[in-house]
Amino acid sequence: MKEDQAAVDARPAGKRAGRTLVAREQRTTVGQIQVDNPRMSCRNVDVYYNFGEKQAINNICLDIGKNEVISMIGPSGCGKSTFLRCLNRMNDTIEGCQVQGEIIMDKKNIYDKDVDVVPLRAQVGMVFQKPNPFPKSIYDNIAYGPKIHGLVQNRDETDELVEKSLKRAGLWREVKDRLDQPGTGLSGGQQQRLCIARTIAVNPEIILMDEPCSALDPIATAIIEELIDELKQEYTIAIVTHSMQQASRVSQRTAYFHLGDLIEIGPTDQIFLNPLHQLTEDYITGRFG
Ligand code: ADP
Ligand code: MG
Repeated sequence: MKEDQAAVDARPAGKRAGRTLVAREQRTTVGQIQVDNPRMSCRNVDVYYNFGEKQAINNICLDIGKNEVISMIGPSGCGKSTFLRCLNRMNDTIEGCQVQGEIIMDKKNIYDKDVDVVPLRAQVGMVFQKPNPFPKSIYDNIAYGPKIHGLVQNRDETDELVEKSLKRAGLWREVKDRLDQPGTGLSGGQQQRLCIARTIAVNPEIILMDEPCSALDPIATAIIEELIDELKQEYTIAIVTHSMQQASRVSQRTAYFHLGDLIEIGPTDQIFLNPLHQLTEDYITGRFG
């Protein structure tokens, strides 16, 4: 491993395995932005903060494939969270934030004026960096969303959905005897799985995760990573991570962002072993350009 790193560092800049890398200055995306079976298609997405004063991401074009796990990586501040929040219009909640371009799902731009963001955010659920259970019981954390969205009609249906969601999030066995206790009393890793269960309970198709393990210890992280692997059978998952190891463990495709640009997108193995762009190479070898 050490030798490999030394070999990497010894290579002349701009070359990798005899190939010429795309120059740092080029900011058009390298790699296949399209997939055969897209669940969402982002086209020319720009995001500005402070009422247009600051551009955070620039002309992002990217498909999110059905039932894939796609990771977003890149240096802090490169726009990963901003991009993720575009996918369920969470940026709408930030004052002065403006989103341009198209994000197509089921042949409709989710930014069209007639789109109701409440069902959209159930369909495209989100799990945040810091676990954020409601100040309610474990049971009510899960039951709240389905009640609001009219997915359950009575106590029996609610019980069933609560159990099913907790099982899918791998938490049922640990909490089934204390469903009436506060969600905030769980460990950090359990809280994060509670938040995943809460997201699952409203029947999403896509789950967005913004550094879901960064507040967790390695064991809780491993449990969440296993869970992500299981969930991809049923859901499409877009995950932001600052851990390249995590991206390579959980995702099939990886997108590398740099200063608001999508620099490179490709199969995860290729991004980490054989990137095409010099900036990606700089990042994965720990040498920032
Ligand atoms: P990342 O998640 O990759 O660390 P972000 O998406 O959080 O990056 O941020 C991208 C850029 O947008 C950064 O320059 C950041 O300072 C800026 N930014 C993020 N959120 C806001 C906000 N609410 N208001 C103003 N600027 C913001
Ligand atoms: Mg972020």
